[in-house]
Amino acid sequence: MNAHDVIADLDPKHGVFVNGRGLGTASMFEVHDPATREVIAEISDGTASEATSAVKAAARAFPEWAATAPRARAEILRRAFDLTVADTDRLVALICAENGKPQADARAEVAYAAEFFRWYSEEAVRTEGSYGVSPGGGTRTIVVRKPVGVAALVTPWNFPAAMATRKIAPALAAGCTVVLKPAAETPLTALAVAKLLAAAGVPDGVVNVVPTTDANCVVSSWLSDDHGRKISFTGSTGIGRMLLKQAADRVLNASMELGGNAPFVVTADVDTAAAVEGAMIAKFRGGGQACTAANRFYVHASVADEFVARFGGAIETLRVGPASDPTSQVGPLVSARAAEGVRALIAQATAEGAVIAHQASAPTDGWYVAPTLLTGVRPDAAILRQEVFGPVAPIVIWHNEDELLCWINDTEYGLAAYIYTGRLQDAMRIGESIDAGMVGINRGIVSDPSAPFGGTKQSGLGRESGRDGMREFQETQVLQRGLRMTRQGSWPAAGALNAGYESVRRPDATMRR
Ligand code: NAD
Repeated sequence: MNAHDVIADLDPKHGVFVNGRGLGTASMFEVHDPATREVIAEISDGTASEATSAVKAAARAFPEWAATAPRARAEILRRAFDLTVADTDRLVALICAENGKPQADARAEVAYAAEFFRWYSEEAVRTEGSYGVSPGGGTRTIVVRKPVGVAALVTPWNFPAAMATRKIAPALAAGCTVVLKPAAETPLTALAVAKLLAAAGVPDGVVNVVPTTDANCVVSSWLSDDHGRKISFTGSTGIGRMLLKQAADRVLNASMELGGNAPFVVTADVDTAAAVEGAMIAKFRGGGQACTAANRFYVHASVADEFVARFGGAIETLRVGPASDPTSQVGPLVSARAAEGVRALIAQATAEGAVIAHQASAPTDGWYVAPTLLTGVRPDAAILRQEVFGPVAPIVIWHNEDELLCWINDTEYGLAAYIYTGRLQDAMRIGESIDAGMVGINRGIVSDPSAPFGGTKQSGLGRESGRDGMREFQETQVLQRGLRMTRQGSWPAAGALNAGYESVRRPDATMRR
């Protein structure tokens, strides 16, 4: 499918999507194809004024959407799943054009993104509370879950469809309305998703999208607006930290999916062929530009030569090229800045003594970085301490498990980790000793719409996906009922009001009775 036709159909000149229609703005910004550096669209650039219109529209739509029967919300989300699947080719064309990832990666992303609509169509009708008896026996406690309110969603460019649906689907299932700010690099896919939701029957004002080049202005205006009650952010730890500080001013409910520095552990008794297969996925999906990407490889000394030879061989045969070539396996990085940053990290690592042991060939135009395997990397090397966000695999050799665990946990991040091993008990022992939110065991991918996704330490707060994902968009309310109400409905005498606590305060007296 031709990306230009798909983009024209979206009408990017009215890219700001508020209350079910496109808004033109005073200025426009350019969206580029990372493979060719060509401008593929000019899109309206949201400002504080459009941000305010969007949050007001979401606030107006909230009471009715929150009161819509869960079954009705579920059926709309289910239709969104069907429409997304039916529209796969169009979404793939958009993702390839603005993100640059290969067609196979984009197709996998659309399938993953669609699954959030299906999973949360099933969860929308499973809002549960509880009913409990107080310890003193005099009170009944009913716990209900309610939508938190208008939610501000901020998403990155690396999964332009899935990062949007992973937030929108649980928010809508819970009864929230949303304002979404996609990354300026990839606004077109988010707009296409919003239009699919409208076609599925989402009422006007429930989903609003404000693409902008001034993220700070748009998001700050949402965080300070009295209508907003929630911020759900996916992006770097630095920006997440800053948004948390802003959210603190209004004590907003906050969910943060932040950066990662995933270790990939290979033990002595591993099936190296399987480990290499997993390593290729964990490292090179999306060109290494995933928060869960394997960032540092720890390989047991006894299998290091074999693993490096096989992994290096697989890397050298990777086909690096534009998404327009259906055989490409690794695309360009998202921007010139990203490509320069990764090349600088390789240069720094080699200056510190690492060796480029294997490398694929890559086109010289566009923002490509050749997939690279580094050996001779010291456990304290700078490249291991930060998110590489590119197709580079530094290998560290380990001998001793205690030392390995110290190296692995010596980071501010705790998002994902991978272990390849022949023995389940080793996987469980090492896995539970790693301070990370997700551990893949003999598997190069940890994301699944049914499983809680998120990190520990500075990789984030809260979880997306699974049942936990919907709870992030709900408040808990308690309704307590005293049993001592008289038959006539009047309250008991003042002295009896604390009777429910009696057995707690005077257990002996209660037992004697
Ligand atoms: P980023 O933090 O630069 O941007 C993320 C989003 O925040 C974008 O929409 C951007 O426009 C917006 N933003 C930037 N500055 C802002 C500001 N001052 N105020 C408000 N919003 C602002 O991150 P990125 O480069 O787009 O994405 C890569 C990062 O995202 C990596 O660190 C990666 O690990 C992380 N990420 C995390 C997850 C996860 O689930 N944990 C998923 C994908 C990406």
